[in-house]
Amino acid sequence: ISKINMAEGGDLTADSRVTGAPVSASGTCLQGQPVQIVTTTDQHTFQLDEERLEEILLSPNVRDKKVVVVSVAGAFRKGKSFLLDFFLRYLNAQASKDWLGDDSSPLEGFPWKGGAERYTTGILMWSEPFEITLSNGERVAVLLMDTQGAFDSQSTVKDCATVFALSTMLSSVQVYNITSNVQEDDLQHLQLFTEYGRLAMEDNGTKPFQSLQFLVRDWSYPYQYAYGANGGMELLNKRLELNDKQHPELQQLRQHIRACFTNIGCFLMPHPGLKVATNPYFDGRLSDIEPDFKIQLLELVPLLLSPENLVVKEIHGRDITGKELVEYFKLVGGDKPYLLPDMLERENNRLFEHTLKIFHTTRKMGGEEFSKFYADKLEEELSELYENYTKHNEGKNIFAAARTPAVLFILMIT
Ligand code: GDP
Ligand code: MG
Repeated sequence: ISKINMAEGGDLTADSRVTGAPVSASGTCLQGQPVQIVTTTDQHTFQLDEERLEEILLSPNVRDKKVVVVSVAGAFRKGKSFLLDFFLRYLNAQASKDWLGDDSSPLEGFPWKGGAERYTTGILMWSEPFEITLSNGERVAVLLMDTQGAFDSQSTVKDCATVFALSTMLSSVQVYNITSNVQEDDLQHLQLFTEYGRLAMEDNGTKPFQSLQFLVRDWSYPYQYAYGANGGMELLNKRLELNDKQHPELQQLRQHIRACFTNIGCFLMPHPGLKVATNPYFDGRLSDIEPDFKIQLLELVPLLLSPENLVVKEIHGRDITGKELVEYFKLVGGDKPYLLPDMLERENNRLFEHTLKIFHTTRKMGGEEFSKFYADKLEEELSELYENYTKHNEGKNIFAAARTPAVLFILMIT
């Protein structure tokens, strides 16, 4: 049994693993380590580590099981990995009543207390899926995903939107981790992404994504909206409300967010206390965490992960298995921009018409005949361009659909 060495920044290479395993609340060892399955490169492209992904998803107890994929995404250093380690505790303790554990065990799993430096950006997956029995008796595999470096100063806005989009596409439950409130900024981060979702939806009419859970950390107005899911939903409904004073763009954004997801929720978490937030020697032990935080953890984690609340990953409305998820990862992969072919065609047609219209409605010298020559030439060139784009689109094979939001955006403003 091995575990990640978290003492020094949680290096993710196999060499850094040390022997000895943490003991969970239920007394069973927490097995596994975080595995970097998607890496962002300096050129702002994405690389999928197929081999390591397959090791997890094609293992005998996962490949033919339906999968639940829970992801946590959002800005850097806002307690995502810290929270995920409580998910690990819960799953490892098989949802037993005392899953939260004793007062003095350090919190282990995804590396969470890295100081100011950051880890490689991209997506990490816990190497050991958890087998859980649903209320209908079916055994499913639960996978946890941690995202790194979204929305921090070193990532470009595009990378951020992309890591978010990618992890949302790959998960059945996306926990959107934000701090102190649900602000306009937080919603705008979803914009490019929901735009993609809207187009995907036009194609087949089903909502493209499953569950989006806003998680507000350090909520400090419990007298206005109470901690937990009910207070959270009230706050979110308020924030997603449409009103006439909003700019049309802001109205659309709100409609899209609602339209893209089957289920949207919001949970308000209290501040965990100063030891958690500021003490460099804090090791995650419960005795150093504020009681209010622990009370809400006991609500939140089962809300996402108890057998009756698990959400099996669907694609186009169909439950998928570990094996199918591997294919899906590869499908959305690509180091070049990618669009679904029919979307590309539709956008092309729209812009084709638009371009010709501009040509024909612009006053030109030289008369009808003369202008026809150039109109034909323009049509010819546009067709040629489309053909190239199509080839280009087909040729890509690493994280491609991931780039879709950005590409669409460029097409739309062109
Ligand atoms: P990540 O980059 O989002 O994964 O953040 P980490 O999980 O690595 O946590 C970053 C720091 O925030 C750590 O020092 C944690 O102790 C601290 N932390 C964890 N949860 C919370 C929280 O709810 N509020 C505050 N203020 N700090 C937290
Ligand atoms: Mg982290």
